[in-house]
Amino acid sequence: MIALPTKEQATSRLTGRRIVVTGGARGIGRAIVERVLTEGANVAVVDTSQSELDLASTDLVNRHPSLTVHTVVCDVTDDSRLAIAVDRAAESLGGLDGLVNNAGVLREEALVDVSNEAWQLTLAVNLTAPLRMTQMVVPHMIRAGGGSIVNISSIEGLRVRPRHASYAASKAALLQLTRSTAIELGVHNIRANAICPGSIDTEMLRGHIGSLEDPDAALQDLVGRNFAGRLGTPDEVAAVAAHLLSDEAAFTTGQHYVIDGARTVTT
Ligand code: NDP
Repeated sequence: MIALPTKEQATSRLTGRRIVVTGGARGIGRAIVERVLTEGANVAVVDTSQSELDLASTDLVNRHPSLTVHTVVCDVTDDSRLAIAVDRAAESLGGLDGLVNNAGVLREEALVDVSNEAWQLTLAVNLTAPLRMTQMVVPHMIRAGGGSIVNISSIEGLRVRPRHASYAASKAALLQLTRSTAIELGVHNIRANAICPGSIDTEMLRGHIGSLEDPDAALQDLVGRNFAGRLGTPDEVAAVAAHLLSDEAAFTTGQHYVIDGARTVTT
């Protein structure tokens, strides 16, 4: 495996940027928060878990004492609290020019059993919240002269798996939302791109594997589908998010970036 640049070797592509990350207390979101701080950005982290946010923020502030880490306990489906949270984040960071819509949920049910509760929740967190966050952050980005939005979709936005109908529908729609954002907001120098991760080693994935009949066999099956022969890491997704947030990606908008060890290129 080729080693990624260490945190010390990472560049400072995001110096002075002010970025909001949803679902940033753990998993892929947490890795994105760490990566953008390492590259010099100030960050607002939105998550539902007070305890995980407290733990994350103490650790991050200790390691990046010169940068701002603003934490907000907020459910991204709660529009009115979210609007206040976004304005406070902008106040705390001195504006906003980056947004990562990462918070997501996965509910597994056979198509014929998909409940209204699971369908509504999945669409609310995975699709409606990114739209609302975008609407709330865009005025700040326009004031800043532009910005970059990264939506964390999934390879399940491109391919489907059994028992994942609501998740796959939400992630596919998020790709279209990303494209709409890119074409409508490009005039304001705002870019929007999506990332479609494959199997990334986080609590969400471990929870999914653990819920299956034979978790060991399921893990082997997932790993076997990746031509890299392993699960991806949150850091590998974070590296691409940092690139898309930076000016290196100035001409990249309306696109999706697949990080899946070549899993989806085969028939
Ligand atoms: P995790 O479940 O490990 O972490 C998700 C984080 O989002 C948690 O801290 C969670 O907090 C938070 N969150 C969930 N719902 C809300 C909400 N309503 N409001 C605010 N915060 C919320 O997930 P991953 O890191 O694995 O996934 C991150 C993103 O990547 C998701 O969008 C997921 O769909 C996507 N993805 C993940 C893949 C994988 O293999 N891991 C593959 C493809 C895409 P809490 O637990 O307190 O709710």
